[in-house]
Amino acid sequence: MTNKPLIIAIDGYSSCGKSTFAKAIAHWLHYIHIDSGAMYRAVTLFALQNGLYKNGKLDAGKLISLLPEITIVFKKNPRTGNTETWLNGKNVEKEIRSIEVSNHVSEVSKIPQVREHLVNLQRRLAGRKGVVMEGRDIGTVVFPHADIKIFMTASPQVRAMRRYKEMLEKKEHSTYEEVLKNVIERDRIDSEREVSPLRQAKDALVLNNSKMTVEEQMNWIKGIIRKKLAEQNDKENAD
Ligand code: C5P
Repeated sequence: MTNKPLIIAIDGYSSCGKSTFAKAIAHWLHYIHIDSGAMYRAVTLFALQNGLYKNGKLDAGKLISLLPEITIVFKKNPRTGNTETWLNGKNVEKEIRSIEVSNHVSEVSKIPQVREHLVNLQRRLAGRKGVVMEGRDIGTVVFPHADIKIFMTASPQVRAMRRYKEMLEKKEHSTYEEVLKNVIERDRIDSEREVSPLRQAKDALVLNNSKMTVEEQMNWIKGIIRKKLAEQNDKENAD
């Protein structure tokens, strides 16, 4: 059975475990995994590092004019096997996950020109291969014709606790209260913005993983993927 590679879109709220889930699916299918949030984070880091904030206010016009100078690539770390984000030739995987970047990223991702630039890059990176892409607008804007769309959610407290533990493990300094505040605030800005707000696509399947292990989530999605591939196969045989 030679299946056409699938496009799997995973959208949802901040710190829902989208990355863990998307990575596990990509690994199982031997597909590429693209974390679109890392791209918005990299552009935010660029703005912070290049003095584009004056008295806490972003110079959006300057950032837009500098977009052609921002190169974002994903490279596999041969030691850990993890994919890492590189910004203009530098590995920034750790820096883009800092609370400072988290506190500024939703403002940056409101800018239509930034979104247009990154959406084009996301479509190019996916090419014609099988892809699992995660973000906020993958099923609604980037790939409205994705084969499978998942919308992930969990309670803000569960999400903040997961993120907080993750940061502790990575020895990043923050408090649970600070992380919870950031999660709630990002959800608000991401859902209320005018351009490509965080929305559940009409044809997305909802996954509330507040009380689910990764293994349970994988068993659930494997059933959905198998069904999709079988449908594709039946259709091919009928044509
Ligand atoms: O997924 P992650 O939490 O790392 O994303 C960081 C931020 O990037 C989000 O809060 C959102 O503002 C922005 N984002 C977006 N569209 C995407 C992915 C992320 O606006 N497709």
